[in-house]
Amino acid sequence: MEGNQRGGGQASHCLSLAERRDRIAAAREALQGLGSVAWQAPSGGGTDGLSALMGEVDALGMACDAGRVAVLREAMNRGESSGGSAALTTAQWVRHHAPSTIAGGAAAIVSIATAFGKRVNAPVKEAVESGRLPVRSAAVVSEADKLRPLLADGAEPHVLEGLIGMAEQHGPSGCRLLRDGLIARYGREGLLQDQQTMGKSFIRLSQPQDAGASTFEYRLTLDVEGKAILEAALGPLSAPKPVDGERDLRSSDRRRGDALITLVRRAVAAGDEVGKTNKTTLLLTMSHEDLKDRLGAATTLGGLDAGTHLAPETVRRLCCDGSVIPIVLGGNGEVMNWGIEKRLFTDAQTKRLWLRDGGCTYPGCGAPPQWTDAHHLVHWADLGPSNLTNGALLCERHHTIVHTRRLAGRVVRGPLGERVEWDLTRGSYDDLLARRAASNTATEPA
Ligand SMILES: [Zn+2]
Ligand SMILES: [Zn+2]
Repeated sequence: MEGNQRGGGQASHCLSLAERRDRIAAAREALQGLGSVAWQAPSGGGTDGLSALMGEVDALGMACDAGRVAVLREAMNRGESSGGSAALTTAQWVRHHAPSTIAGGAAAIVSIATAFGKRVNAPVKEAVESGRLPVRSAAVVSEADKLRPLLADGAEPHVLEGLIGMAEQHGPSGCRLLRDGLIARYGREGLLQDQQTMGKSFIRLSQPQDAGASTFEYRLTLDVEGKAILEAALGPLSAPKPVDGERDLRSSDRRRGDALITLVRRAVAAGDEVGKTNKTTLLLTMSHEDLKDRLGAATTLGGLDAGTHLAPETVRRLCCDGSVIPIVLGGNGEVMNWGIEKRLFTDAQTKRLWLRDGGCTYPGCGAPPQWTDAHHLVHWADLGPSNLTNGALLCERHHTIVHTRRLAGRVVRGPLGERVEWDLTRGSYDDLLARRAASNTATEPA
């Protein structure tokens, strides 16, 4: 990029203010009447072409923005920009002396100048002053302010660097997209999981409201996981479907609505079939380390909803059953063959679980077998096999609880045959893993 030619190079640091003002005047002179000589630029790009000229003028514009902030900061430090005999606010002072901001932008300059007074924002200030980051994108500081209390110790410089990089390329809106990813990577331990688990309590589907003309309106609120699952299922179903070569004229919203009905129709029609095939539509990638150690997050692949981050325990639960296809990546990004060969219970195994458990095995729950997931007592991510002694039926709600509270269950043989017994102490699953690890080392040949 031409960006490297921007600015006056390192030497400009030695210039006095008087010398700089001369050069500012010269630059302004150079721009006046530029339009009357622009025709001299050769056609077809190149370093003398119009595209390069545009880049140079733009860099000057960015430098001007940064210059306004720098001047304002000095005025703020001296107390010249507010109060005084005219009793101006700082924004009024900016509008008064930088008349181009009368149409807007003064408030942004003030907030950036204020933010640059804080030491934590030094990297953003540096990026603006060196002409890397437009002042307009320096709003990343407010995004950083929101993230700061959520971050693990020592993570802030990385996060700020990530935000600046994103803002350089995509502007401030790009930074909001980065939020979940940054929390997953640099947030306090378990934070993304906590946030996403809390999101579940906001799930709502309203009663139908009569909207007239024989139509009904619903309001639907979903958590991140729910959105990812719904979007993955709707994606292929809501694609435009041409009829006899004619374009599909349905609006996107209309197609999504139709797809939702199709989805429900299929689920209801599945009857006593295990019906796994329609579920496996959500593709996830996650690093081997993160999956094993329950860190970071998995990322959804494909479709409009690609790039959504899912917290680790959520991923482990989804991997138990057929809701997702996990793609586990090794340290160099290579696809790994993680887990016991068969991740899912076969249809025959699932039906035997239906027969054995008769429904959700969580104490006090009566959910029927068709509405349950087949949970792996030792999680797939911890190399639990897909066999009947490692399986237990759980309804969606209890499946979530078993994973978030890390509960251990085991298959016990009683007078009425085999049944699943749960240890409802939080973290009992971790104790189970520790015992397993200990007995594995004990039985290993010396
Ligand atoms: Zn599970
Ligand atoms: Zn249940």
